[in-house]
Amino acid sequence: MIDLSKLTIVSARESLKKGEFTSVELTQACVDAVKEKDGELHAFLEVFDDALGQAAMADKQIKAGIDLPLLGIPVALKDNILVANHKASAGSKILEGFVSAVDSTAVRKLQQETGAVIFGRTNCDEFAMGSSTENSAFGPSKNPVDTSRVPGGSSGGSAVAVAGHMVLASFGSDTGGSIRQPAAFTGIVGMKPTYGRVSRSGLIAMASSLDQIGPFAKTVADAEILYNAVKGVDPLDSTTIDEKTFADSRSASGNSRQTSSRLTIGVPREFVESEGVDPDVKKNFEEALEKFKALGYEVKDVSLPHLKYSLAVYYILMPAEVSSNLARFDGVKYGLHVDGANGIEDYFKTRALGFGAEVRRRVILGTYVLSSGYHDAYYGSAVLAKQLITRELREAFKDIDLLLTPTTPTPAFKFGEKTADPLSMYLADIFTVPANISGCPSLSIPSGTVEREGKNLPLGVLLTADLGREDDLFTAGKEFLGE
Ligand code: GLN
Repeated sequence: MIDLSKLTIVSARESLKKGEFTSVELTQACVDAVKEKDGELHAFLEVFDDALGQAAMADKQIKAGIDLPLLGIPVALKDNILVANHKASAGSKILEGFVSAVDSTAVRKLQQETGAVIFGRTNCDEFAMGSSTENSAFGPSKNPVDTSRVPGGSSGGSAVAVAGHMVLASFGSDTGGSIRQPAAFTGIVGMKPTYGRVSRSGLIAMASSLDQIGPFAKTVADAEILYNAVKGVDPLDSTTIDEKTFADSRSASGNSRQTSSRLTIGVPREFVESEGVDPDVKKNFEEALEKFKALGYEVKDVSLPHLKYSLAVYYILMPAEVSSNLARFDGVKYGLHVDGANGIEDYFKTRALGFGAEVRRRVILGTYVLSSGYHDAYYGSAVLAKQLITRELREAFKDIDLLLTPTTPTPAFKFGEKTADPLSMYLADIFTVPANISGCPSLSIPSGTVEREGKNLPLGVLLTADLGREDDLFTAGKEFLGE
C-alpha cells in the first residue's frame, strides 16, 4: 500500500528508482485517493483517462535507466492550463465542450523534458477570478483541514489535490495571489515565479501582464523541482526572459549582490500592521521573524509607503486586461453558443449565459476604466502607480534580499462568508498582489496554525525576492522549514 501522505516528489523518485513501487502503482494510488476523498473535497474536475497509460510508459523509461526529475510522478493541473486532446474549461460554462488542440508549453516541458504523468485537471474560480473557488461554475472545492471552510483560490483545486494527499504535486496560475493564498490556507508550499520565467503559452489568459504559472508542493525542495521543470525562454511567449537578462537588469540598477553573503530580510512594518490583519496572523508572523533571526538572518524594517496601493492598482489593471482577454469568448470560436436573432444577439446571449457574476462584474469594470472619458483617470494613473510601486520595491532590494509579510490577512474563511461582499473577498490578496504588480518572485511557506472552533487552521508567510532571485526564496524557504 502506497501512503501518499508520507511521500514527496523527492522520496517518490527514490522509491521509483529503487523499484519499491512503479509509476503505475503510484498513479493508481492517486486514482484511488481521488475516488475515496474527492466526492467531498472536489479538487478535481477530471482525472485523465490516459494517466495510467502515461505511467506505464514512464515505467518503461525507468526500467531502461532513464533519470528525469519528474519521471513517473503524477502532476495535476489547474483547469486553465491546456493539455492537447483534453478538455479545459477555466472553471467556466462558456468553454463547455472545448477540447484543446495543443499542449501548453508548461505541459510539453513536464511531459517531454521531465517525464511527469499529466494526471488530471483541477477546479478553480472561473477564469481564475476569485479567492475561494466559490466562483467555479462547477461548485467549490473544500479545505481538507476543515471542510466548512474555503481552500482559497483561484487555484483552490490544485491546492486541495496536494494538501488532501491525492497527488504529490500540482500547478496553478497566479495573477494576484492565486497560488500563494490557497497554499497558505491549506498548509502547503506555493510559488509565483518572476514574471517571464515560465511561459504563458497555453495558459488561458486572465490578465496577461500579471499571470504566471507556478507550483504547489509539500516541501520547498519539491517546489523547486517543479519550477525548474517548467521555467525557461519560449519562442511562443515573447515575454519570457532568460537568467542573464535578469542579472543584467539587476546590476544596471545596482542590485547585484554576492550570492554567498548572509541573507537579509526586510519587513514592511506599516503594511503588515494594516487594518484587517487578524491579531493571530500578526502573532504568527512575529514568531516566523524570530525563527528567521534564530537561523542567522538579519531582519530589518523597511519603509515601502506605496505598497498599500498595490491592491487598488491591481483592481484597475487586472479588470482592464480581463475585459480585453475575454472578448474572444464570443460564442463562435470556442465552447458554448447560444442562438439569438442575429450575430450581436448571439454574442450577448452566449456571454450572459456562459459567464458567471464575478466575471461579468470584472468585464464591466475593465471596460469602464478603459473607456475614453475615464482612461486617464483610472487606467493611466494605475499604470503610473504600478511603476512607482515596482521602483520602490526594487530599490529596497538594494538593501535587503527578501521581503517578508504574512501570506494572508486571515486564516481560511467559511463558505459564503465573503460572497455577498466582493470587496472583502478582494482584501484576501493584500499581501500577495505586490509581487504580481512588480513581477517579483514570491513563495508562501507554512508557518504554523491557529485554532478556530477546534480546528487547527494553517497560516503561511510570504517571501518575495528581486527579479530572477528564485534561488534566495528556495534557500530561505528550506531553512525555515528545516528541509
Ligand atoms: N484572488 C485574486 C482575484 O480574484 C487573484 C486571482 C489570481 O491570482 N488568479 O483576482
